[in-house]
Amino acid sequence: MSLPQRIPVLVTLPFPGPLDYAPPGGAVPPPGTFVDVPLGPRRVTGVVWDGAGEGIVAAAKLRPIALVHDWPAMTAKARRFLDWMAGYTMAPPGMVLRHFANAANNDAAAPVTGYAPTGRQPDRVTPARKAVLELLAAEGALAPAAILAATGVTSGVLRGLVDGGALRPVALAAPPAPRPDPDFALPALSEGQAAVAGELTAAVGAGGYRAFLLDGVTGSGKTEVYLEAIATALRSGRQALVLLPEIALTAGLLERFAARFGVAPAVWHSDLTPAARRRVWRGVAAGAVGLVIGARSALFLPFADLGVIIVDEEHDQGFKQDDGVAYHGRDMAVVRATIEDCPIVLASATPSLETLANVEAGRYRRLVLPERHGGAMLPEVQIVDMRANAPERGNFLSPVLTRAMAECLARGEQSLLFLNRRGYAPLTLCRHCGHRIECPNCTAWLVEHRNRRQLECHHCGHIVPKPHACPECGEEDSLVACGPGVERIDEEVANILPQARRLILASDTLGGPLALAAAFDAIAAREVDVVIGTQIVAKGHHFPFLTLVGVVDADLGLDGGDLRAGERIFQLTTQVVGRAGRGERPGRALIQSFDPEAGVIRAIARNDRDGFVAAEQAARKRHGLPPYGRLVAIILSGPDQGEVMTIGRHLARTAPRDIEGFDVLGPAPAPLSLLRGRHRVRLLVRAPRRLNVQAVLRPWLDAAPVPGRVRMQVDVDPYHF
Ligand code: ADP
Ligand code: ZN
Repeated sequence: MSLPQRIPVLVTLPFPGPLDYAPPGGAVPPPGTFVDVPLGPRRVTGVVWDGAGEGIVAAAKLRPIALVHDWPAMTAKARRFLDWMAGYTMAPPGMVLRHFANAANNDAAAPVTGYAPTGRQPDRVTPARKAVLELLAAEGALAPAAILAATGVTSGVLRGLVDGGALRPVALAAPPAPRPDPDFALPALSEGQAAVAGELTAAVGAGGYRAFLLDGVTGSGKTEVYLEAIATALRSGRQALVLLPEIALTAGLLERFAARFGVAPAVWHSDLTPAARRRVWRGVAAGAVGLVIGARSALFLPFADLGVIIVDEEHDQGFKQDDGVAYHGRDMAVVRATIEDCPIVLASATPSLETLANVEAGRYRRLVLPERHGGAMLPEVQIVDMRANAPERGNFLSPVLTRAMAECLARGEQSLLFLNRRGYAPLTLCRHCGHRIECPNCTAWLVEHRNRRQLECHHCGHIVPKPHACPECGEEDSLVACGPGVERIDEEVANILPQARRLILASDTLGGPLALAAAFDAIAAREVDVVIGTQIVAKGHHFPFLTLVGVVDADLGLDGGDLRAGERIFQLTTQVVGRAGRGERPGRALIQSFDPEAGVIRAIARNDRDGFVAAEQAARKRHGLPPYGRLVAIILSGPDQGEVMTIGRHLARTAPRDIEGFDVLGPAPAPLSLLRGRHRVRLLVRAPRRLNVQAVLRPWLDAAPVPGRVRMQVDVDPYHF
């Protein structure tokens, strides 16, 4: 048999497909192997791909693969997943590969070193040396700390044995983490929960792709129920993946998972140390890691045998990635489940319209948990009409709300104020000349962060110290803060209830998941009376003494022109309201709004999810918008606004015509028309659901003359625009 002369390698660069290489010396690496290959003067990472190669370069001229990595290979299923994802998102496959390779590339983290005997006797055998050699003769190799602990010798003894050639340093395999025990602590499910859990465990036990919507009010036991689906996968030796929209949410769940399965699950997100990445990546590939809980990037782990995927808070927009390869983690999870041929469970108290449409079409099976566990009641919701209940000038909490907070405090209970805005004030304005302080790189106001005494851009990270004089007219002390952020609400609470112990919970006031966990512990221990938080408080936690929720500004974002604004407000508000009254004490929610007649606010007031969804569905159907039609955003960005707009107009002129239901809106300045110093112009494609829109877009976009300094980004199913 002759050796293949041509090996296709997909590299982590934006080429349309794999490039051909000659085999390296030695064995021919099979598809899925991570390799380094020469590319011009550089070396890049890639994966041996399937197929026979492109055949463009003559075989004799092919350069050989430079290095074969010992990383766990990309499975055939993972390669299919990558191909599918590249086709759908219209991203070059090499850019999708980056998501897999970034996670795999963990050579840098050398494993812990330990010591093993060489077989040579030391020149002098003391009792201490003998103890070490006997231990290692039995154990093979151990980390220094383990040797010292087991024998009680000093580190000088170890050093002497190494220097004398009796021991040698070796790379220790990380000890395998104990597998979660599916029967560690079995729950006592209610009848309703048991019925739902039974359907899920039957599907996981049978194997094969099936999609479920686990639809239950906040506190109904969705987590409790999906843990049983995971247990079934673990019992049959398979793996389970739980995806969360935000890694901050893992803190609370880790403890719960540990209580159920005896050990904490493996965690995966972009902030892991290289050593932790290596451990999890390899453990997942070997099948040793049974349960992973992670952010959307966990979709790219090399699961050996995936038995079930859970997407918790499936409606959450945190699953959507807009940078680079634009994809929706929930949707890609469904694709991965079809390829892995395993069940997937989407859990939410406020499912997305996309998922509800899939239920209606019969593609997903809906399982319902209609009641809170243990008879707890959903909070009583009251809308506060801010036009009639305005607080004093410069304040943001209505008298109704502050009175309720004072009563809550007097009862020794906790309240939560929700405002989805970090910092002190979203806008700083000059009273003298009317100047508004903007980011020099973005179409955005700078947000005041008073505790850091600076103004910050929440889009590009631009920071300036807070000026004393107006940067425009030079007037001293003329700058005023407009509007509230959580810091300002905190200040207001301090004035109104000086005796209350307060805590701000926002992603920038905490150091990370651990600090967040500590904050949650403090709340649970009743060391805090009033929590003021952004959306990170909205979900996933259970505080029995939290009985009052105040939504500071329910209208926030309603007039932003975002197609999902109403849906998002409904979901977020429902989640936040659901924080109250989860224990034995009943909860109450006060929702401040300047627009209480708006459909979404009325639906929140009546707890009328079905009515809200029906109205929203009707509007989307009427306009051919998702989930009934498809949108694709094409964003052009570059240093010169005129040039970017010219290319946008060219695209609009050359757009495909005469396809029923297909139209192109724009070009128009994108919502953030300046971002990080680049001008952005957007075209919006609207197409019928059944159309293969990628096939229509590809030749059109490929033919556009786009110079290197202009970037064209395609976002299929855009969310934030
Ligand atoms: P959800 O995920 O729907 O918000 P959870 O699973 O977090 O609901 O359940 C809400 C609370 O009720 C949690 O504290 C959970 O431990 C508790 N709980 C739910 N079901 C049970 C059960 N069958 N037995 C004991 N506690 C339960
Ligand atoms: Zn900026």
